[in-house]
Amino acid sequence: MEFKGFKEKVVFITGVSSGIGQAQAIAFLEQNAYVFGMDIAEKGIFAVAEFQNNPHFAYFLGDTSKKEEVEEAVKKAMQQFGQIDILLNTAGILDGYAPTLETDESLWDRIMTVNVKGTYLVTNAVLPHMVVRKSGVVVNMASIAGFVAGGGGAAYTASKHAIIGYTKQLDYDYVKLGIRANGIAPGAIETPMNQADFAGDGKMAKWVAKETPAGRWAKAQEVANLTLYLASPEADYIHGTIIPIDGGWLGK
Ligand code: NAD
Repeated sequence: MEFKGFKEKVVFITGVSSGIGQAQAIAFLEQNAYVFGMDIAEKGIFAVAEFQNNPHFAYFLGDTSKKEEVEEAVKKAMQQFGQIDILLNTAGILDGYAPTLETDESLWDRIMTVNVKGTYLVTNAVLPHMVVRKSGVVVNMASIAGFVAGGGGAAYTASKHAIIGYTKQLDYDYVKLGIRANGIAPGAIETPMNQADFAGDGKMAKWVAKETPAGRWAKAQEVANLTLYLASPEADYIHGTIIPIDGGWLGK
């Protein structure tokens, strides 16, 4: 897939070490964009050839839910590449599908802090650099759990609903300043986040595939391809909305 308009663009991606964030980074590097990654884990970064000695790629190890670390990452990205054109808030964590009575306060806080506060902190650190140039695109990572029950536990589902609301308000408040914000709601994507489903005889993974109208899990690359489109100038009239990529799950 080739898109015009990403050459010389700078993309800031959180959750870049694994799964969907890693696939997004590779997809944008393939379009000749510059990518600045942020993640708490380093492992996946070195595992991918596209990242090694690539002058278009730099990263910062840090926690998106900690304000000082986010500000440091954004400062490094600006020093390295001079601007940020596209922000992908992809980092997120799952809650083990715990119902509310099995969700203690620390689990609730962890999920909300990483998924919701992290998205807000990174956005607030990057947005001023976009507003000053009256140009920028934000793509937040929601989930089918942002629309319906069953895609996570109490905290995860609440956090993804919050991300959807935040994304709509972000676009609404900043569209006049040249910012375009949307979200993506993936269904079953085969990444390390879901490795428990594939463990043992993979019974859970098979059940999920059977319950998905398309009859299969998707690859992270498929979410990255949608991200390319949403971030491209071709999607300029798509605002404040959440695009599902779920094999038909929400349409059931
Ligand atoms: P993943 O676990 O493979 O990758 C998530 C990455 O985020 C990891 O590299 C992790 O280190 C990083 N991360 C976690 N907390 C962080 C923090 N506080 N600061 C910095 N980095 C942090 O998961 P994935 O499947 O690629 O998920 C990516 C996003 O997509 C998440 O927001 C997830 O909720 C969402 N999502 C995934 C699926 C799916 O089926 N895989 C479905 C719907 C939504």
